[in-house]
Amino acid sequence: MKLNLIYEGKAKKLYTTEEEDMLIQEFKDDATAFNGLKKDKIAHKGELNNQISIAIFEHLKTKGIPTHFIKKISDNEMLVKKVSIFKIEVVCRNIAAGSLVKKFGFREGDKLASPLVEYYLKSDELGDPLFSEEHIFALKLADKHDLSVIKKMTLAVNTILIEFFGKRGIDLVDFKLEFGKTQFGNIILADEISPDTCRLWDSQSGKKLDKDRFRFDLGEVEEAYQEIKNRVV
Ligand code: ADP
Ligand code: UDP
Repeated sequence: MKLNLIYEGKAKKLYTTEEEDMLIQEFKDDATAFNGLKKDKIAHKGELNNQISIAIFEHLKTKGIPTHFIKKISDNEMLVKKVSIFKIEVVCRNIAAGSLVKKFGFREGDKLASPLVEYYLKSDELGDPLFSEEHIFALKLADKHDLSVIKKMTLAVNTILIEFFGKRGIDLVDFKLEFGKTQFGNIILADEISPDTCRLWDSQSGKKLDKDRFRFDLGEVEEAYQEIKNRVV
């Protein structure tokens, strides 16, 4: 049962439960982009992202990736293990899109020779800047051992999800992960994996089935999220 709201973010709310080490993560319909400058609601997004994330976390578990997911509570809520979140957004890319095109001059759709892992400082005030391993160590956000675990897990998740989505007719272009540490010191995958945090393109048509439809007013946003849910759940 939900006790107290302890955090309300842009896309989710976190509640304490009777269990000290468990939280309820509730998914909202709110959508934001460009560091909060663009805001709206996407009908049913909360329940779609919750159920898509659950299907992905369950699949990752069968492949040996530890995640915070414990069980589904309702269509838009999941019970999770409470962790201390690393203030790092880990992005992994297979195909050039988004900031890789904007900042580095890649051409959208170019396949990368190997997966590219990037780190962004998780800070709305600072606009989530791209930073290096050296910055992470200097800021003491993770030590060398923890970051090497995080990087290995990210690449393992990438391999698993390329196949998972590939079988469902979807190209995994890029995605963002968040990791946390449990009270026992184990590093596990947290947050969500959904069309809000991944770029997903239909393998046949190339149609964008993710938050870029919202970011760039491409229309059929809810339909795209629903299409992903239909293919993964
Ligand atoms: P934001 O904080 O960027 O606005 P959200 O609205 O998605 O993002 O809020 C969810 C928050 O919950 C994020 O800050 C995320 O790091 C945090 N979080 C996710 N999973 C857990 C967990 N298992 N334990 C503690 N915090 C978590
Ligand atoms: N991403 C995310 N949260 C962020 C920033 C990026 O989930 O705060 C995801 C984004 O949806 C995409 C990937 O990370 O799948 C790479 O994003 P990019 O750096 O291209 O940034 P964008 O221009 O999309 O903000």
